[in-house]
Amino acid sequence: NAPVDNYFVDAVFLAGRLPQRAQFSHKGTFGHALLLAGSRGKIGAAVLASRACLHGGVGLLTVRVPAIGYDILQTSAPEAMALTDPATDFVTELPDLKPYAAIGIGPGLGQEAATRDVLEQLLKAATVPLVIDADALNILGANRELLDLLPPDTLLTPHPKEFERLTEPARDDYHRLELLRDFARQRRCYCVLKGAYTALATPDGVLYFNSTGNPGMATGGSGDVLTGLLLALRADQRLSPLDATLLGLYAHGRAGDLAAEETGQAGLTAGDIARFIGPALHKLT
Ligand code: AMP
Ligand code: MG
Repeated sequence: NAPVDNYFVDAVFLAGRLPQRAQFSHKGTFGHALLLAGSRGKIGAAVLASRACLHGGVGLLTVRVPAIGYDILQTSAPEAMALTDPATDFVTELPDLKPYAAIGIGPGLGQEAATRDVLEQLLKAATVPLVIDADALNILGANRELLDLLPPDTLLTPHPKEFERLTEPARDDYHRLELLRDFARQRRCYCVLKGAYTALATPDGVLYFNSTGNPGMATGGSGDVLTGLLLALRADQRLSPLDATLLGLYAHGRAGDLAAEETGQAGLTAGDIARFIGPALHKLT
């Protein structure tokens, strides 16, 4: 009579988990998020994650980009505040973390040595929820001693290749899910395994499978949009780490499904997913 330790997450499962906004709520209720993202040639990843975070309902968003990203970010995500790094091409310095309710790092970040040091400093200094994706995961995979620094309840969002760098090659899909469950338990983190029916493992070793999304989302930047959205929901002071993560995974896929109704799967871009986050969340409240 083993306890149930995996769930399929659909709209019924999530009903009631995303509260409506109270009449007298203010920006603080929804949190001030910090995103560290972008490097020369990959500022678009920072833009996509920023737009997704804003559409995800964040109260305020500050983005740490290298100096080369300043004009691009201010123009393409004017609601976000740009906090540029002193370096031109990649992030080299960790800003003061005091103002922030949640911090995301990774999209388009690159893996320069100075950026690796920023990640290490962040892991040591952070006292708020972290979302770690993309190149930040690749840095962790190449410097596994940094995994010992993960603050509890940190959220990691690897796709299978990034997950393999963090752990080991899987024999098959089932083995990969076992590795995922073990990893989340050992590291006391929330770890996603992205793809069709994205899985989430919790620190307690429970698995959740997301029901939304479509193959049109297999396109560059989709994951950056997910990171921004998850960052927004983790900054929301009303949501638990688990609910924020499940809602984010579901709404990301739903946004992709709504977008594909308009664009078709082949025509779908990551920017389209970001654009439909609002409607996707709207249907959840
Ligand atoms: P990334 O590889 O980091 O760009 O992330 C890709 C995103 O698109 C993840 O959120 C995946 O879950 C999603 N995705 C990719 N392929 C599919 C698929 N065939 N069905 C549903 N979602 C997908
Ligand atoms: Mg990615």
